Amino acid sequence: MDKLLGLLADGQFHSGEELGEHLGISRAAVWKKLKAVEELGLALDSVRGKGYRLGSGIELLDSEKIKSCLDSDVQTRAEIHTCFTTESTNDLVRDLGTVPAGITRFCLAEHQTRGRGRRGRAWNSPFGSTVSLSALWQNGEGTASLEGLSLAVGLAVVKALETLGARDLKLKWPNDVLWQGKKLCGVLLEVHGDPTGECEVVIGIGINVRLSDEQLTSIGQPAVDLFRVCDKAVSRNAVAGHLINTLTHLLEGFGQGGFTLFKNQWCEYDAFRGQEVTLVASTRSVTGRCLGVDDHGGLLLETESGVHVFNGGEVSLRQS
Ligand code: ATP
Repeated sequence: MDKLLGLLADGQFHSGEELGEHLGISRAAVWKKLKAVEELGLALDSVRGKGYRLGSGIELLDSEKIKSCLDSDVQTRAEIHTCFTTESTNDLVRDLGTVPAGITRFCLAEHQTRGRGRRGRAWNSPFGSTVSLSALWQNGEGTASLEGLSLAVGLAVVKALETLGARDLKLKWPNDVLWQGKKLCGVLLEVHGDPTGECEVVIGIGINVRLSDEQLTSIGQPAVDLFRVCDKAVSRNAVAGHLINTLTHLLEGFGQGGFTLFKNQWCEYDAFRGQEVTLVASTRSVTGRCLGVDDHGGLLLETESGVHVFNGGEVSLRQS
């Protein structure tokens, strides 16, 4: 399938015969594979006498193209894996085993069959439409040192996307990236190991690069992609490369100084500062005015009974 998609990626017509020759398979086998391409949700045009083409073409992930976007100091410290399909890049990045000291592993997939959000919610990543990336970061300081990391990761995403021309991005506590109130990117952090010592932090990031109208409306909340934000096509490999740069630098800084180093920058992008919001937990909700975040990344909410601090985990922020 990856070879077939590699041939169709240019958006030009290819005859069944030509595809069969390149792949070394029969016309009937080509036809079966083309059906499987459609099942991935990709729009395939078929025209008699011309053959088959992928409507708007597709940019497949390419490790070499990603590496060409890396800063020289990042090149030596990043281990990059790309794959065609996986259940979840957050699982894949751990399944590949431990990473050598000083190296951060990054896994990317064209398609996740079971991408996840927080608290068991699903993350949609249609084939070739998103950058679905997970990083594995070894940390020896225990989970307390990770306070605010998910907020800082949101900031690394914003910085990478700004380099590519995106503007007016906002951060929704604790870690969504929004544009005009629509979700462009989600982050899922998972921590494994000793809560007081050596632990593995998996940072999962999903950025919408180019989705169809149907794919966007099938998401259960307002969502947007980079194509619409930037009003032009944006390279998935460039998004991945710039994200690996900003994440690598962020993790380095965060390891030394924690969230305090990033707090002021985060506040510049706060989507709800000064606004009435509701925090929803499983059994209750609290309404108040959002006052930003504290040095640990906790949300400050001014209510009738005073200012309260809320930490991530089980709560979700909603505009009142
Ligand atoms: P919270 O405020 O708790 O973070 P959330 O609804 O944004 O709320 P997440 O767990 O961060 O929850 O993300 C999962 C949700 O994101 C899904 O339930 C769905 O509404 C939305 N979603 C899923 N796939 C996408 C996507 N590709 N782009 C934008 N949003 C998506």
